[in-house]
Amino acid sequence: MPIHNRIAAFAEDMTGWRRDIHANPELGLQEHRTSEKVASLLRSWGIAVTRGLAKTGVVGTLRNGTSRKAIGIRADMDALEMSEANDFPWRSTNPGAMHACGHDGHTTMLLGAARYLAENRNFDGTVHFIFQPAEEGLGGGRIMVEEGLFERFPCDMVFGAHNDTYLPVGTITAVAGRVSAASDRFWIRLRGKGGHAARPHRTIDPVVVGAHMVLALQSIVARRINPQDAAVLSITQFHAGSTGNVIPEEALLNGTVRTLKADVRDEMEKLLDETAKATAAAFGAEASVEYSRGYPPVMNAEDPTERAALAGQKVVGAEKVVRERLPGMGGEDFSYMAQKVPGCFVRIGQANGDRGSVPVHNPRYDFNDEILPIGASFWATLVEQELPRAGS
Ligand SMILES: [Zn+2]
Ligand SMILES: [Zn+2]
Repeated sequence: MPIHNRIAAFAEDMTGWRRDIHANPELGLQEHRTSEKVASLLRSWGIAVTRGLAKTGVVGTLRNGTSRKAIGIRADMDALEMSEANDFPWRSTNPGAMHACGHDGHTTMLLGAARYLAENRNFDGTVHFIFQPAEEGLGGGRIMVEEGLFERFPCDMVFGAHNDTYLPVGTITAVAGRVSAASDRFWIRLRGKGGHAARPHRTIDPVVVGAHMVLALQSIVARRINPQDAAVLSITQFHAGSTGNVIPEEALLNGTVRTLKADVRDEMEKLLDETAKATAAAFGAEASVEYSRGYPPVMNAEDPTERAALAGQKVVGAEKVVRERLPGMGGEDFSYMAQKVPGCFVRIGQANGDRGSVPVHNPRYDFNDEILPIGASFWATLVEQELPRAGS
């Protein structure tokens, strides 16, 4: 696998940065330590650093030669609000926060590429290394774009990557078109009537109503949406009650809806509202529904996708570059960057037997350090390919 030799030589340094970030996870828009680390490493290699976009965002800018061409490469820095179940030495030391999506690895791969490019300068043009906060729900990517990311750091193309626990180490996807889902959130406040647990007929039990509601909402996907269209509705929180002999007054349900098409998204929003309210009414309860539209799907543009595929072939070989794949149902706020500038979001396989195959968002997930040099070499190869020096 033609990993850049120089990158392979400092792979251990990358593993060290990655595990340090993993041990010190920070939630969205609070990535103070992580952004400080990113900024100081970039500066140590002579890369100009701009901080403060989306609070904790960092942009490193490396210019070489005279070409006016510029590309942006983006990594995310935030952790998830969950507790880690791993017990290796670099497990989270910050209770309630965990790098369970591998953003520690994404940040490190981009740092590795930055170090290599700063040392070798085998390119002509400008590279913006974009380290964004808050990918997991708070839309750090959107905030950076709204705060003028591409006006301040104009890019001809923008790229991003995510690790993939379902693809083997040494695989890179470069798929044109839609590669992620629209990601929306909802909250349902269910009002019943509290009372003694021994006299349910004098109450309207929001727990029982909520249980019916969870199943009724699942039936929207199973029975109301065309089976040839993709839709996901997951209830991820159900809160009610305070003790064993009291039927509570209220229940709160929270969850997410994922869709690939605009009309299905509209339909899901409408049916969720109707079904929640009608289910509550059937039991004499009342539901209020708040639906909040989140990230749009990531749309990979043709040209940058071809260029990513070419760079991928140079690093892992043509047979390991995946060119066709159904879009995932996950959300990604890289979509906001790819709406502004032609972009491509790739996935880098990290499964190797037991290593790297625990899915993201699982409390036993860990980023596979084996792929750090692959990802860093991919970014470095892409830059050298897209910003070629005269004669090279
Ligand atoms: Zn995630
Ligand atoms: Zn992620």
